[in-house]
Amino acid sequence: MPETADNQPPPGPPSPGEIQKKLQEFMKQNFGDGVVLTAVQPQTETGESGVQETAPDPDPQFFDFHFKPKDIKAYLDRFVIQQDEAKKVLSIAVCDHYNHVRTEVKQRRSREKNLKEGEYTKQNVIILGPTGVGKTYLVRTIARLIGVPFVKADATKFSETGYVGGDVEDLVRELVHRADGNVKLAQYGIVYIDEIDKIASPSQMHSRDVSGRGVQTNLLKLMEETEVPLRSANDIQGQIQAAMEIQRGGKPKRPTINTKHILFIVSGAFDKLEELIFQRLKKSQIGFAAKPHADVDSAQIFRRAQTEDFIHFGFEPEFIGRLPVRVVCDELTRDDLFHILKNSEGSIIRQYEDAFQAYGIDAIFTDDAMGEIAGAAVKEKTGARALMTVCERVFRDYKFELPSTDVKVLPITADLVREPQIWLEKILADKTISDNAAQFFSARSFAEKFTSKHGIELTFDEGALKGLVERARRENTTVRELCEKIFKDYEFGLGLVFKQSGQKSFALSAEAIADPDRYLSELVIHSYRKK
Ligand code: ADP
Repeated sequence: MPETADNQPPPGPPSPGEIQKKLQEFMKQNFGDGVVLTAVQPQTETGESGVQETAPDPDPQFFDFHFKPKDIKAYLDRFVIQQDEAKKVLSIAVCDHYNHVRTEVKQRRSREKNLKEGEYTKQNVIILGPTGVGKTYLVRTIARLIGVPFVKADATKFSETGYVGGDVEDLVRELVHRADGNVKLAQYGIVYIDEIDKIASPSQMHSRDVSGRGVQTNLLKLMEETEVPLRSANDIQGQIQAAMEIQRGGKPKRPTINTKHILFIVSGAFDKLEELIFQRLKKSQIGFAAKPHADVDSAQIFRRAQTEDFIHFGFEPEFIGRLPVRVVCDELTRDDLFHILKNSEGSIIRQYEDAFQAYGIDAIFTDDAMGEIAGAAVKEKTGARALMTVCERVFRDYKFELPSTDVKVLPITADLVREPQIWLEKILADKTISDNAAQFFSARSFAEKFTSKHGIELTFDEGALKGLVERARRENTTVRELCEKIFKDYEFGLGLVFKQSGQKSFALSAEAIADPDRYLSELVIHSYRKK
């Protein structure tokens, strides 16, 4: 905590009353008595000021939660590779939470008297796992699917008093911000706090780490239920607005947001917890006879964590008690990283393809190249984050040099990933390397993607490949763009053919390139006739 010379905490900003008085004095001094201070407030579509005065009753129609755990898991599977247990547990926790919210809000609306208050424990979650394995990604993806605002922060940035760094209540205010000022929606948001292990304060270091315990207490209040003022005491703009409200003769509004329905998810790497769990297991003499070492998977030990281990680690019992759902994320292997690159809908490969495409360059990654990137990344020990690090290292000079050349296709092979500099020089010196080989490559890669995406095998014969390259040149576009344009109806059309005739594999010829629509309709008609 920063302290002033006399060891007092620094003063906060002036109160609304003080601001209002100063403003009045200022106006009088400069403009005399004739000028009156008035306030103009920002308007929303509803004509109300930006925030609502009291947290509105959540509206069951407004947030109509209708997902089942399997729906959420299936959506997560599209983006997050591995972490099956975490996907399952989170899907259940999220459904339990929002189903409960829906029921409770409906009951309250219909003024049912027999609310079963107090029997429900909110399904706040604690996720254990190393960095870069998808903890945040899981939660962010869920929030996007169900359409609630999401806020992430590191626990280390908070202090007990909020003087250093931030105040935990800022998280809740940030939810409102993320929901574009919509307090109703923000009340269903998800707050995600990483590095939660850093605010544990083991008993032997009590005196040094009071702040950690203080932050736990503050978070505990949020996780239970509290009204958080929408205007922070440190928010000068909010204070000025309140001053304006006093000026207009009213009482300053004190808008708040209720935290009862906000879902809290915390996470951390919990490096030292492993040893504590192990010691307990050893004492109770079940399992583990030897000290955990490299070949004992940390995740397996974490899965045996109990409340007492977390308390021993330095969490207040009440705090850990408010996090009833525990889940472990596994370390990612080289194969996992390869799958992330190749199959995740959020793969950074798409990002690189788009970045090159912005200059009209088709970047085509072979499987071997992706394997090579995964292999280099796994050595960095920062999970999937390392994929970005490796790609940045490999492609930096390509991103700099190629946009100013007339290279239109960049075939990315394992050799290129291993020796990016040498390959860049080759490509720059001999344009035909990228031109000829790569145009074919681009077409083939489109066909492969089509096959894996739609389950219908598409190939081009040599005539089709030549046709594509020529047509792309004529139309001044890339082969990939051309394929996307001329085959956009093929998923549907070939699907029909498959339904009618069971034909699942199609080798397109030069005719298909010259008149793709006619070629497709003939295939469809033919399949109906055959039937
Ligand atoms: P952390 O576990 O430290 O919270 P993140 O979830 O922030 O890690 O992961 C960083 C990035 O790495 C994500 O944005 C995502 O692109 C990628 N990533 C991490 N884990 C996975 C995974 N299991 N599947 C797919 N992508 C992942």
